[in-house]
Amino acid sequence: MALTETPAPDIGQRPAGLTGGEAATRLAHDGPNAVPRPRPPRLLRRVVAQLADPLVSLLLVAGAVTGLLGDWADTAIIAVVVCLNTAIGVAQQVRADKAVAALDTLTAPTARVTRDGTELVVPAADLVRGDEVRVEAGDIVPADLLLHDAHRCQADEAALTGESVPVARAAGDELSAGTVLVTGRAAGTVVRTGARSALGRIAELVATTHAGPTPLQRRLTRLSRVLGALAVALCLVVFAVGLASGRPLLLMALTAVSLVVAAVPESLPAVVTLSLALGARRMARRKAIPRNLHAVETMGSVTVVASDKTGTMTEGRMTVRRAVTPDTDVSVTGTGYEPAGQISGTDRPLPQDLLDLARAGLLCSDAAVLPPAPDRPGWTAVGDPLEAALVTFAARCGLDPAATRAAAPRWAEHPFDQATRQMTTVHRDGDTYLTICKGAPESVLSAPVADPADPRLPAARQAAADLTAAGLRVLAIAAATTAEPTNPIAPTGLRPLGVIGIEDPLRPSAATTAAEFTQAGIRLMLITGDHPGTAAHIAAQVGIWQPGDPIATGDQPERAHQVRVFARTQPEQKLDIIAELQHHGHVVAMTGDGVNDAPALSRADIGVAMGGGTEVARQAADLVLVDDNLATVSHAVAEGRRVYDNIRRFLRYGLAGGTAELAVMLIGPLLGLGLPLLPGQILWINLLTHGLPGVALGAEPAEPDVLRRPPRPPDEQILGDGLLRGVLALGALLTAVTLGTGLYAAAAGWPWQSMVFVVLGLAQLGIALASRATRPHGTRWANPGLLAAVALSAAAQFAAVAIPALRDLLGTAPLNATQLAFCAVAALLPGGLALIWRTALRHRHHQR
Ligand code: ADP
Ligand code: MG
Repeated sequence: MALTETPAPDIGQRPAGLTGGEAATRLAHDGPNAVPRPRPPRLLRRVVAQLADPLVSLLLVAGAVTGLLGDWADTAIIAVVVCLNTAIGVAQQVRADKAVAALDTLTAPTARVTRDGTELVVPAADLVRGDEVRVEAGDIVPADLLLHDAHRCQADEAALTGESVPVARAAGDELSAGTVLVTGRAAGTVVRTGARSALGRIAELVATTHAGPTPLQRRLTRLSRVLGALAVALCLVVFAVGLASGRPLLLMALTAVSLVVAAVPESLPAVVTLSLALGARRMARRKAIPRNLHAVETMGSVTVVASDKTGTMTEGRMTVRRAVTPDTDVSVTGTGYEPAGQISGTDRPLPQDLLDLARAGLLCSDAAVLPPAPDRPGWTAVGDPLEAALVTFAARCGLDPAATRAAAPRWAEHPFDQATRQMTTVHRDGDTYLTICKGAPESVLSAPVADPADPRLPAARQAAADLTAAGLRVLAIAAATTAEPTNPIAPTGLRPLGVIGIEDPLRPSAATTAAEFTQAGIRLMLITGDHPGTAAHIAAQVGIWQPGDPIATGDQPERAHQVRVFARTQPEQKLDIIAELQHHGHVVAMTGDGVNDAPALSRADIGVAMGGGTEVARQAADLVLVDDNLATVSHAVAEGRRVYDNIRRFLRYGLAGGTAELAVMLIGPLLGLGLPLLPGQILWINLLTHGLPGVALGAEPAEPDVLRRPPRPPDEQILGDGLLRGVLALGALLTAVTLGTGLYAAAAGWPWQSMVFVVLGLAQLGIALASRATRPHGTRWANPGLLAAVALSAAAQFAAVAIPALRDLLGTAPLNATQLAFCAVAALLPGGLALIWRTALRHRHHQR
């Protein structure tokens, strides 16, 4: 690190940059500053992909054969089924893709660019050659830049070179796109963008990490295949039985094909993708933006939320409340970063040792505070809020921040280091040099920074302990005046000036959120770099810690599953903590916002980045919190669980229907019901039940108890926890009612086949209604789409026996009022019984 200091870039003297018009022209000419992405498939390709599905291909072949044989009715039905099926499939996919693409733009990297003399934040894709760009620590360099200003600038070029040791970059150097600015800030002119930039040349290296199906999607695809094979086997039985009982070969072949199509939940993967994508969109609306569908899926099974403290549980707005020097102990009032405030506990003029402390804190900080402006209602902090609190404190002590800094220019510095928890600066102070070190009391108030024999140390340590016990964040400051400049990397023998207690108020929602997590069976942990005392104080306020409970520090990751508070933890140590938790079977969501948090964010099952954090953290995360608020994570959990519930809802409904269709066809002939359903009728039922109502089930609201039950075990089978039993029971119920109707109708001399057809279709719709989520009062009309879908499908089912043209097509017979009423009542049975059964189960559950 260079010992000589380049002055901080002056905010007033920035180049005016391109004009907006010029930028637009260049963008049109050069193309966007992005690595070319595969574009979404065209409509035609999507249609072809749907038709290429093995089941649909089978139908197409069947359609061709019936056409050749002149069986126009069946050909027409098959054509209708294929068209509608394809339309629904393509529409679902387009919707899902749109939802995912919208998320992408919400979390796309941005760049700070100056155009027409004002600084804007634009999508990094909009940068053009000649743009004036500013980057800060934590930013990912958006394009190849030629630097004209660099301040403490260190770049991590691992993405390009694999070399992860940061390299210093100065004015005149180039900064390549895709590198990460680890410390400092810089300004430069864009020299290359998009595919021409360094990043573009290594595009393959930065392929999106989470592309491809999620584990759930993969499991469901596998499930579909298994069920498909099973259905094919059973349909061969139907085929053989039919042939053996002397039915025509073609009819039985067609029946078998239709049955396969009906029994296999072929729309399952599509419904799942759509549910995930819509869930992602709802999460984004509630300010938790998932960066991929994996996040939506995993969110519901999170068992540990490991949160940092500053800005997540607390507001991250810091104010100095106490300052203790060897001779004075003052309290400070005032809100936020506004310089107005009172120093109480001492007389004016303020004692010199207090002023020395305030001045040292100010000099050893990089932050600034800005007065209110039209776009900023109050005083705001620029830079580290902790340092901004020091600037405000100095102002409250009567110092002029700008003048004080100008009077003692920086000569050298060592930036804040998470490992040593201290920062040192060296200043020219008249004819002498002033070395200031500020940081955690344990580091600053002990050797080698302080002289262990210094008589002021015990009192300073005691003061630090008192302030910590009061729940304040504590900073100690030490300084020395020397004739020659010192090396800021290893300050020694400094004199303690005092300790400062900083307040960071708890977010009002923190305690309720913590209680919500507890109810939801999720362990909330606090992981912080702060002192154990301060951490304990906050954790107690949040309600996740009581006096007597253990606290671990970052160097004891093996205690991760026993404690709820980790103090003095460095970002790198979070990796071991996550590994330990995962080793105990936990699904871990971990928050972070800094450059050093990125590895932990990738390692966690769900990396949660703060919207206000660094670009690096956001790009490494699975979930971005727009409002930095922990409460938003619990919304995301609820949403994730809702998606999973709805997928299981669809499975129960779809598989029960398929099971019933197969069973009716298999068992019917044994009961003397010949061929219970014609091929076209099977396809018709399949279309009405799996089509719209199936998709609509995916939009059901969350059960009222989503956050009052434990997370699902991550390794639980998708059909586990009673779902398979439910499918079989419902399937049996549907089969019994359908065959019962058939037998009664046959005995009564009614058109039994048409009645079997109507009942089997309607009864499945009843199951769809019975599968709805429980609605608390006032939300009865949530998801009206489902009711509309069921009503439409029911109408279509009646139309199939009422409209002569459809009767011809489907081979149904007209039913009279008595017969229709019989069908309607019979069809209500399975859904009604399912409802009663569910209510009884829930009742028993509540009593337990
Ligand atoms: P947190 O988990 O609360 O974000 P940090 O790792 O940021 O904790 O800080 C840990 C400790 O390091 C703080 O308690 C404080 O004593 C010290 N510290 C934090 N920021 C600075 C800074 N800018 N300069 C000097 N010391 C700092
Ligand atoms: Mg911090």
